[in-house]
Amino acid sequence: AKEQGRNTYQFYTEGMQNREVMRLELDKDLDNALAEEEFVLYFQPQLDLNDSSINSVEALIRWQHPRRGLLPPVDFIPLAEESGRITDIGRWVVMAACRQLAKWQNSPFSNLRIAVNLSGRELDDESIVDHIQNTLESHGVPADRLEVELTEEIFIQNIEHNLNQLSKLHKLGVHLAIDDFGVGYSSLGYLRDFPVDLLKIDRSFITDVTERHDNAVITRAVINLAHNLGIQVVAEGVETREQLNFLKDHRCDLIQGYLISRPIPADELEKALGAGLLN
Ligand code: C2E
Ligand code: CA
Ligand code: CA
Ligand code: CA
Repeated sequence: AKEQGRNTYQFYTEGMQNREVMRLELDKDLDNALAEEEFVLYFQPQLDLNDSSINSVEALIRWQHPRRGLLPPVDFIPLAEESGRITDIGRWVVMAACRQLAKWQNSPFSNLRIAVNLSGRELDDESIVDHIQNTLESHGVPADRLEVELTEEIFIQNIEHNLNQLSKLHKLGVHLAIDDFGVGYSSLGYLRDFPVDLLKIDRSFITDVTERHDNAVITRAVINLAHNLGIQVVAEGVETREQLNFLKDHRCDLIQGYLISRPIPADELEKALGAGLLN
């Protein structure tokens, strides 16, 4: 029994150790990543179904790690949330988005708006609103070029604080989107109380919207609910023509997904837009 106990223990620690070592290593590397600007924003276009134009893109962060290559957010955002470094990463994202918007201002891409993702944890930071305002101003970018995507978690915790933060942002002219809508267990009342401009229907409803009656019903209901509240709707994760046609038939405003484009670097986006490849 003693032997077995030791083996079990060893097995446990080895598995733990590898994961833990990697986490600790990445966690340590995150400091450097900010200083060395190893992060990069990829952009995924949103297609306006009314006129087939592209006026907005979502910024999705990647980490160009010196040894591990290009890392997706799932590899480091949760880690950064735990350690609190997410605050600095979020500030970098806002800065990089404003820098890109400033570049696009006197270009054929001056119509583009950028949506950035902010976690609830980032919104907790009292000074994030000032940071956004100052960064927009110092880059000479109008606030309505920027959109902020938040998940429904902000309706569940720290509600008063979050409402206050979002009201300030909205007053500046920043657009507000609710991300992953429909999976967050929040009350619909918050759509009334918060200044929401857009709802993004979660990919899990869209994936088989043309095969599953229940998802079709939910998607249609969300679109109608949003429109009756004066809120626009984005469908996430659109991968097929059939999904596009369904969403168009039911008056969804915008779609985003691999059917239009994967998230790509700014120069690739400019090329694709310039060549009219995305619409
Ligand atoms: P999200 O905000 O829901 O972003 C959408 C994710 O779905 C992206 O993954 C995108 O690449 C992927 N996607 C887009 N279209 C399709 C499609 O047609 N099919 C499929 N299967 N997937 C699609 P990504 O870039 O790996 O980002 C994952 C999550 O990481 C994001 O989910 C967001 O929650 C978080 N994230 C990304 N960038 C940031 C950031 O700058 N700050 C924070 N706090 N979180 C971020
Ligand atoms: Ca998002
Ligand atoms: Ca989403
Ligand atoms: Ca998501």
